[in-house]
Amino acid sequence: MTKKDSNSQDWLNHYQHHIWPPYTQVKTAPAPLPVIATNGSTLTLADGRTLVDGIASWWTACHGYNHPHITNAVEAQLKKMPHVMFAGLAHEPAAQLAARLTKITPAGLKRVFFSDSGSVAVEVAMKMAVQYWVNKGTPKRDRFITFRHGYHGDTMGAMSLCDTEDGMHAIFKHYMPMQYNIAVPSDEYSFAEFDELLGAMKKNIAGVVIEPLVQGAGGMKFHTADILAEIYRITKKHELLFIADEVFTGFARTGHMFACQEAGITPDILCIGKALTGGALSLAATLATEEIFNAFLSDKHEAALMHGPTYMANPLACAAANASLDLFEKEPRLKQVEAIEQQLSEALEPCRKMDNVYDVRVKGAIGVVQLEKADRALVLHLRKKFLEQGVWLRPFGDVMYLTPALTITEKDLRMLTDSIIRTLKD
Ligand SMILES: *Cc1c(COP(=O)(O)O)cnc(C)c1O
Repeated sequence: MTKKDSNSQDWLNHYQHHIWPPYTQVKTAPAPLPVIATNGSTLTLADGRTLVDGIASWWTACHGYNHPHITNAVEAQLKKMPHVMFAGLAHEPAAQLAARLTKITPAGLKRVFFSDSGSVAVEVAMKMAVQYWVNKGTPKRDRFITFRHGYHGDTMGAMSLCDTEDGMHAIFKHYMPMQYNIAVPSDEYSFAEFDELLGAMKKNIAGVVIEPLVQGAGGMKFHTADILAEIYRITKKHELLFIADEVFTGFARTGHMFACQEAGITPDILCIGKALTGGALSLAATLATEEIFNAFLSDKHEAALMHGPTYMANPLACAAANASLDLFEKEPRLKQVEAIEQQLSEALEPCRKMDNVYDVRVKGAIGVVQLEKADRALVLHLRKKFLEQGVWLRPFGDVMYLTPALTITEKDLRMLTDSIIRTLKD
């Protein structure tokens, strides 16, 4: 266990004066918690307190924090070569990782474009899709069909794909490209409508973008594998591109390595990120089929994909990702997800009958308790209550959610669910 951090008052002062924090109204927000160390599913604070982490740092730390296999791989790579530019130079960590990713993602995805964050992976997917049609000689197909409650990132293109009713990005409405944001179809009637819409609009549409099975940061909404398969079928019937954003769902979170695999579908383009490095470093990727990639092969230079992040395929991040994939091979992560799903289902069931609970849902290592009503004051109150009980949970909007490390112990998971139940009872 790490010792108390006696100089934290100093650096917290710097934080307060110089940091611009994410998604925060700085004027009214409570002070952030000084964290000085992590281990497994535990955060250690400067005053010596520890918290059981129910979020795994936006579900990135899938093997728990500080997994020695990942730490060692990054250390070894650090000594050899921390970084080189990726234009004109090749390196083994990226090549191995790309080959391994094409083996574990839905069959047919063959090419990997690396970037540093999920949002950029989505931007790259959008550029690939739009330029695919340009290269094919049908340049007007530059709009996307997206879904209500979707979240795809915070950069301009990615924002344009998010739920348009959600207030978070409303200020930028006039800067963003306009897309078609519709409800996820769920019955015969809405599927017929979806089919008709695609038929009517397809001359202007590049593709359909969806978070398969679980829509994450836009409200933690679920749909079934049958619904996903039907959305895919209709999209392909109209010969549109199907783009899966698995930045949230990828790497076993929903019970399969990738959510698309539960529906037995291969998207034309797949975005991954977040848990790709097991939570150690920032890395994301956009995968494409040969059909997409081949449309960029030409004697004309302008048919090439013009994108290349400075830190593209950073060797440290690739080493972390390769080590993370070793762990998925060597350790029983999918079994652990099954056990988490079972435990979450049983432990959260009593919430269903409580006042102010609208819905309880569990899928893989994701547990959600949605409230009937939650204003800002209630959200802040809940966050405070969780802290007092030694757990790190951060409800947003009307949802309390759990996305723990896939390696969390039964006891720690129990502590998280008990804390939700106790807090709801009050
Ligand atoms: C988090 C997330 C993103 C954005 O990833 P960043 O790394 O934060 O840019 C995109 N899509 C989905 C589904 C996500 O959950």
